[in-house]
Amino acid sequence: MSNYNSKSKKAEEFICHEEIEETLQYAKENKGDLKTIRAILERAADCKGLTYRKAALLLECEDPEIHQEIFHLAQQIKEKFYGNRIVMFAPLYLSNYCINGCKYCPYHGQNKHISRKKLTQEQIREEVTALQDMGHKRLAIEAGEDPKMNPIEYILESIQTIYSIKHKNGAIRRVNVNIAATTVENYKKLRDAGIGTYILFQETYNKEAYEDLHPSGPKSDYAYHTEAMDRAMEAGIDDVGCGVLFGLNLYKYDFVGILMHAKHLEDAFGCGPHTISVPRVRPADDIDPDTFDNGVPDDVFKRIIAILRIAVPYTGIIMSTRESKAMRGEAVKLGVSQISGGSRTSVGGYVEEEDEDDNSAQFDVNDRRTLNQVVDWLIDLGYVPSFCTACYREGRTGDRFMSLVKTGQIANICQPNALMTLKEYLEDYASEETKAKGLKLIEERLEMIPNPKVKEIVTEHLHDLDEGKRDFRL
Ligand code: SF4
Ligand code: SF4
Repeated sequence: MSNYNSKSKKAEEFICHEEIEETLQYAKENKGDLKTIRAILERAADCKGLTYRKAALLLECEDPEIHQEIFHLAQQIKEKFYGNRIVMFAPLYLSNYCINGCKYCPYHGQNKHISRKKLTQEQIREEVTALQDMGHKRLAIEAGEDPKMNPIEYILESIQTIYSIKHKNGAIRRVNVNIAATTVENYKKLRDAGIGTYILFQETYNKEAYEDLHPSGPKSDYAYHTEAMDRAMEAGIDDVGCGVLFGLNLYKYDFVGILMHAKHLEDAFGCGPHTISVPRVRPADDIDPDTFDNGVPDDVFKRIIAILRIAVPYTGIIMSTRESKAMRGEAVKLGVSQISGGSRTSVGGYVEEEDEDDNSAQFDVNDRRTLNQVVDWLIDLGYVPSFCTACYREGRTGDRFMSLVKTGQIANICQPNALMTLKEYLEDYASEETKAKGLKLIEERLEMIPNPKVKEIVTEHLHDLDEGKRDFRL
């Protein structure tokens, strides 16, 4: 008898091993039932999402025609909720000191030959200035877990520093935070510091695999880690971002796990995760690639993204530069709504060029293009790269945000914001070539704004931007 309870506050009850195993068994037994699968797809077209059981069945199905139908529906849903906008961000590594023993990460405490670095506030200023000069407005800060080297006070001071820097026309307007699971009290401090999303990857939802992969340090406590989002939400952080590191454990298990986690947050707090990230294991210093033999092939990975898009239409999907240009191109079609660009995954990497011998990166970047190259490429593909950070600054977070998304109203806000922030980027940071094609795209897309009043406001602000004014949002 399973003890599954989506509203429970206990990790092993809201992420229930038996329920996941039963779900996977159900999917295996019914994967040939194409009639049921087609009926699920038909219902899912109403954009109300999917249960984890139905999503697992779609993922298990081996029929190539069904795969195409899944891709088709995912693209339709993506188009409906996110249009052709892709939100841009960059990671900023503050410190790679860490006392945990994660077997898949080069920052693990036992790695004695990696160079350890922690940015001073002055160095943060330099990194952020470099990021602003690239055109970034939205950051995700990252730090290892080390109560002595990276206490919460250091993180809070760093956030304050980041928000305070105004270099030329630049500004970081949203700081998302990816730090270790912590206490309600510390989450309250992060909330008061004005963070955007609190991001924490579960890595794997399988308790046994989790404990094996995390043999030492505070992160080895599965329940404390898994219940972190509950504590963050109790502390008043409305937007939380989940993720698993695909390839650590069997992907089907973690796929069900992450949807179960999303259901838990929805059932227990009335609001599911703001985002889901989909990293895959990458090579890194001191990591034995043979340890991880659960690699997810590209075709399966694409289906995971597409089915997530169908299962949680209201949740942003994030993809980093771990993936190649080709995979990122596929992913933005199928469901990814936010990507990083020009990323450095080492501490201090935006100021000091990473060289071949530098072993301080958390993982090997696959897509090494500059932000301008990524922006240019997205425009060529017909997307509007967006530097928008409006919602959190307008107080549209948590369930307020979700109700706007669910009624489809958000689409009327995102597109104008995307056009205005892209224009800002083009004026201040883009190459001449990118600027020319970007301005043309803005002109075309402006005509497609359906509400005449909104169109008038955006037209006015686009002119204001020509005159040197900045930071417009709806
Ligand atoms: Fe530390 Fe995070 Fe790396 Fe684990 S994954 S070793 S907690 S930096
Ligand atoms: Fe994101 Fe809100 Fe901006 Fe849309 S308007 S891109 S949801 S911040």
